[in-house]
Amino acid sequence: MDIKQNLHTHSIYCDGKDTPEEMVQTALAKGYESIGFSGHSYVFYSDYAGITMERQNAYVEEIHRLKQAYGHRIRIYLGLEVDIYAQLDLGIFDYLIGSMHYMKLGEEYVSFDDGPQEVRTVIDRYFGGDGNAYVKEYFRQLAELPKHGKFDIIGHFDLISKHVERSELFDYDSDDYLDWATQTAEALLPHIPYFEVNTGAMARGYRTTPYPSPRITRMLKELGFRAVITTDCHDATKLDWGLAEAKALLESAGFREHYVLTDDGFRGVKL
Ligand SMILES: [Zn+2]
Ligand SMILES: [Zn+2]
Repeated sequence: MDIKQNLHTHSIYCDGKDTPEEMVQTALAKGYESIGFSGHSYVFYSDYAGITMERQNAYVEEIHRLKQAYGHRIRIYLGLEVDIYAQLDLGIFDYLIGSMHYMKLGEEYVSFDDGPQEVRTVIDRYFGGDGNAYVKEYFRQLAELPKHGKFDIIGHFDLISKHVERSELFDYDSDDYLDWATQTAEALLPHIPYFEVNTGAMARGYRTTPYPSPRITRMLKELGFRAVITTDCHDATKLDWGLAEAKALLESAGFREHYVLTDDGFRGVKL
């Protein structure tokens, strides 16, 4: 029997639309057994979505309150989507998604997923217009994720491809692209064997397919990674957006199961 769970959700404590309580109520209405909150972490290099350390603390308090209030009806997990360079003390969380939303280029922390125009500017300014050099650097830095924290799930492994459907920023189908991604996956596997199939960019209209791409998902399967299905939800009405596509992607890549978080750690569930 399938287990309905979503471990990648955002609320008004970062850039989501709804309160955590509204999301819990939506999850209950949709028959979820559990929900995990993964608010964006505070980062010292950006005031993205107004997330201060105080705000992160208020978020933690609110999820604890909801665990008390709703714990008899739904399991609630306190997570965080942590930026690779956040440098936070993370011991209080039930689980952590490690994501790279900023690259460190020289002494700067550079955002690169806002839109095709931002990506183009980053490629021109920092990589002399060479889109492949940009890709190579993304995967080089992502491979170092385990050095920056004890993460449970790799967030949107190929985030770099977010805007390639709409703009020719680099050669997404090249063998080099797959090679760089594979080297990074090999470096990550011993430390973080869980990746997410993430439909968030579909829900928000940036992409027509989930992350990762079919080719990358097959590669992750061949290496032995385990899949967690998430919707990177920023809007409670789309809590379960694209689940059929996510499962189809996993099945076509050879996966027979996906993983859900329980009180005793991750557990495999048949697709
Ligand atoms: Zn993210
Ligand atoms: Zn997210």
